[in-house]
Amino acid sequence: MRKTDLQRLRNQLLEEKERVSQSLTQHEKIIKHTDDQSGLEVGKAHSNHMADQGSDEFQYETTIKFANTEGRYLYNIEEALSRIEDGTFGKCMECGQTIALPRLRRLPYTRLCIECKEKEESGSGAV
Ligand SMILES: [Zn+2]
Repeated sequence: MRKTDLQRLRNQLLEEKERVSQSLTQHEKIIKHTDDQSGLEVGKAHSNHMADQGSDEFQYETTIKFANTEGRYLYNIEEALSRIEDGTFGKCMECGQTIALPRLRRLPYTRLCIECKEKEESGSGAV
């Protein structure tokens, strides 16, 4: 891979990392806020917000799920950045072949070439 391509992908990853970190911080605030609130609710005679409670819980769960997904995503990005550092970036973790550049441009954090990815998906049905 050319140095300029690698540099560009690295910048792309760094920008994405920044974006995801910020969005995660936002969600952690919501989770924390919801935790604080439910802490307070226990002390109150919880009659007033019965109707809202379901949707609050739903919101809370969605937020946690989202934070988990984003957390994994962030982890993948960090992994990709460390692979750039140690020089293994752009190689398929499964078969060791070079991952096509257009694929890397679209998914710079990917660990698998398209063939292995398709095999993985058609195989066990795992993500
Ligand atoms: Zn492969």
